[in-house]
Amino acid sequence: YPQLLDGKALAQRIQDQLKAEVERLKSTYGRPPGLAVLMVGDHPASAAYVRNKERACTKVGIASFGQHFPADVSQSEIEQTIDRLNQDPNVDGILLQLPVPAHLNAVYLLHKIDPDKDVDGLHPLNLGRLLRGERGLQSCTPAGVMRLLREYRIDLKGKNAVVVGRSILVGKPIALMLLEADATVTIAHSRTKNLAELTRQADILIAAVGRPNLITADQVKPNAIVIDVGINRVIDAQGKSRLVGDVDFDAVREMSQFITPVPGGVGPMTVTMLLQNTVFSYTRTHS
Ligand code: NAD
Repeated sequence: YPQLLDGKALAQRIQDQLKAEVERLKSTYGRPPGLAVLMVGDHPASAAYVRNKERACTKVGIASFGQHFPADVSQSEIEQTIDRLNQDPNVDGILLQLPVPAHLNAVYLLHKIDPDKDVDGLHPLNLGRLLRGERGLQSCTPAGVMRLLREYRIDLKGKNAVVVGRSILVGKPIALMLLEADATVTIAHSRTKNLAELTRQADILIAAVGRPNLITADQVKPNAIVIDVGINRVIDAQGKSRLVGDVDFDAVREMSQFITPVPGGVGPMTVTMLLQNTVFSYTRTHS
């Protein structure tokens, strides 16, 4: 069997290190790093993600300044909150949990966040830095994928990487990071013709779509490295609800070199990169 890329174990190790670092920073500068997660409405998956993020903050000693707005909150009320958090010296990171209800302009809200506190890396300045290959706050899921690849010493130079999915949150930034690491990158999406033909050429295959079983074994090159970003809730044969990725895990596992499980692969890395970005933002204001 191929090796699992164990995101859960790596996330735990990084969180242990962050916890020690947060302790040290707190005693040096007199306050812990602070993160504000803003959530609008009651989307159940979002609520679970937000809870997860806040729990992880507590574990490593980061202070939470989160706010939960009702679904009918006005644009200006969130903007005022963002302004206030931008000014608040105890807050190092601000994250707007997406999606937000349709009456809100999410893009404008993201633009409002101080780029130095933009721990989700979605402000145009940080996306621009990524495009230019400059240092800056980077999107948590793509950064988590790259960290996982680095941990397992996976060489990306000159390798064919195929990213399936082109969202601004996952697909596009992962593609840019792989490019920066000297992979030859192809981005596939919902309009791509002959997807299987492309994915079969991938030494590194990243699935970031949100469709269970989109990637089957016949679409994967033998000995490929497969990163499954997708999170899908499905009802299994026993009528139980469970999480699966975009990859037909059992079949693809047998022929790949490395593969990430779902859950326990990319998900825990995402939360951990958020904590790391918050600590990075804190240390930058103190240096
Ligand atoms: P999205 O809906 O914004 O984007 C999906 C992308 O998939 C689009 O670019 C679309 O063109 C492409 N696509 C759709 N159907 C396709 C098809 N049949 N063939 C090829 N491409 C197709 O979603 P997103 O925000 O990028 O998230 C993608 C998945 O990753 C979701 O399942 C989401 O839950 C998951 N996710 C996981 C984490 C994590 O921490 N593990 C973080 C963010 C998102």
